[in-house]
Amino acid sequence: MDAIIIGGGPAGISCAIWLKKLGVECVVLEASAQLGGLQTRSPYENLWIPGVQGKTGQQVAASLADHAKAVSVDVRLNCPAVSVEEQQVTTPIGTFSAPYLVIATGSQPRTGGFTASDRVVIGPGTGMEALNVKGKRVAILGGGDNAFDQARFVRDRGGKVTIFSRRPPRAQKLLQDMIPDVPVVVGPYKADQSAMTLNGEAFDAFGIMFGFEAVVPQGLRPDLENGYIRVDRFGQTSLPGVYACGEVTDYWHPCVTTSAAHGIQVAKQISIKLQK
Ligand SMILES: Cc1cc2nc3c(=O)[nH]c(=O)nc-3n(C[C@H](O)[C@H](O)[C@H](O)COP(=O)(O)OP(=O)(O)OC[C@H]3O[C@@H](n4cnc5c(N)ncnc54)[C@H](O)[C@@H]3O)c2cc1C
Repeated sequence: MDAIIIGGGPAGISCAIWLKKLGVECVVLEASAQLGGLQTRSPYENLWIPGVQGKTGQQVAASLADHAKAVSVDVRLNCPAVSVEEQQVTTPIGTFSAPYLVIATGSQPRTGGFTASDRVVIGPGTGMEALNVKGKRVAILGGGDNAFDQARFVRDRGGKVTIFSRRPPRAQKLLQDMIPDVPVVVGPYKADQSAMTLNGEAFDAFGIMFGFEAVVPQGLRPDLENGYIRVDRFGQTSLPGVYACGEVTDYWHPCVTTSAAHGIQVAKQISIKLQK
């Protein structure tokens, strides 16, 4: 085994497909039951991958999984890296070790101290879409693109939505202009999850849209930058033999295409190193 990839999102799968095609033995350890990472929680059409049209995020995730299967990538699902020490990765099914380690663990929505429940959804996507919002009062907390996108989707499904943003919203003007009818309350607010109130006003559901944070595996201590793993232009971290790609770094604007490209860059670097 030459390389262990932790995380089977677009970055990790792309890295694995390229490693496989470059003749490098690798394994993908994926914590969840399916490949595709954050794309698995997007029922929305992905309009942002050059050359790919008419697919939802979930279909993009399925395509990535199909591609990994077609080239026989060794994938272990339901296999979280519980701890990582140097190039040794401990999982519930045993320990993996290899000279190269690729951290592709991506990011997760910030909770802001809220706990997910049947009325409180953390982050955009499938959780929000599963809420029955018709005629219901929904508070969206946050002021970024996801807050305005999700507010629009709730409104379009017949919900009575209000956005609460502590600071002036930083969402793209384009998205803000799409929902002129949705009230936006700017300034400090007091949210009480157990009473489901915001500033004392009752709501049926909260959508928490506080952005994302990097998921850094336990035990690994690479240099970070703003909470994300710092990498050089080859995807090398501050730790020898440890690379990182995709949204766990803050190297490029986060999206499927850049995450995949980052995984490919790392795969190529590892294959070059192995040839030396
Ligand atoms: C609702 C939604 C809609 C989106 N829409 C678009 C879009 O239209 N176009 C676009 O380009 N981008 C979109 N994105 C962003 C895109 O999904 C991400 O940029 C991309 O998935 C990041 O890829 P990644 O592989 O770096 O990380 P992730 O997708 O986060 O994948 C990381 C993987 O690592 C796994 N993992 C984490 N910790 C461990 C561990 N300890 N052990 C093993 N596995 C672990 C996770 O389970 C996950 O599968 C969207 C995101 C969301 C949430």
